[in-house]
Amino acid sequence: MSDKTRVTVWNENWHEKHNEAVKKVYPTGIHNTIAKGLSQAADLEVRTATLDQPEHGLTAEVLAKTDVLTWWGHCKHGDVSDAVVDRVQKRVLEGMGLIVLHSGHYSKIFRRLMGTNCSLKWREAGEKERLWNIEPGHPITAGLGEYFELPNTEMYGERFDIPTPDKLIFISWFEGGEVFRSGCCWERGHGRVFYFRPGHETYPIYYNADVIRVLTNASRWAKPRVMLADNCPNSKPIEVIKDRSAEFGIAGIIQK
Ligand code: ZN
Repeated sequence: MSDKTRVTVWNENWHEKHNEAVKKVYPTGIHNTIAKGLSQAADLEVRTATLDQPEHGLTAEVLAKTDVLTWWGHCKHGDVSDAVVDRVQKRVLEGMGLIVLHSGHYSKIFRRLMGTNCSLKWREAGEKERLWNIEPGHPITAGLGEYFELPNTEMYGERFDIPTPDKLIFISWFEGGEVFRSGCCWERGHGRVFYFRPGHETYPIYYNADVIRVLTNASRWAKPRVMLADNCPNSKPIEVIKDRSAEFGIAGIIQK
């Protein structure tokens, strides 16, 4: 592993090319805006990848050089190939960090890793969101106050159909009255997964300094501590034992 945390910012990059309102907010694409924000941190080495690239820009070579992958998708979740989802999942289980953003709650990779529907309530009304920092000692909230606000957001409301997070970092309150678990941490295999809610494509969310601070902190937090390939070995005993297998027989090989 290099000294710097190598972050790959992935984006389906569809709205930015096909919707005038989104083009205006993100003329170079959501991925390049996030990458620019993260690149302010000297310890992060940032690259981007998009759906329209061969293998969605997530070849084995790219993933081998990725410590943390961020994922933004919305209307093209179904176009992500299962082979790429398999590859990303395997890498997460080995130790790679994954940061899932906003509408990525419905991405194949997030649902695969969570094992639940990941559904939620939503509303597009440009309303205010207040994100409460409920873990001020956590690395992801370093440098943040008790809360921060986004003046215009899409509402996401509970119930968010996720497994209970290992650690809940942010709870959002919305002008319309709903609340939402906006910053959630899990471990899957050796990898760390962080879901972060803000990021609707028609609002300039990824230019916000607090949002970039969270994503920078989360990239550092999600960096692999180990990278271990899966294996399932037949194991010799460490101590001397009496082998009783002749009495019971041996079932044999584990099929994978
Ligand atoms: Zn949205």
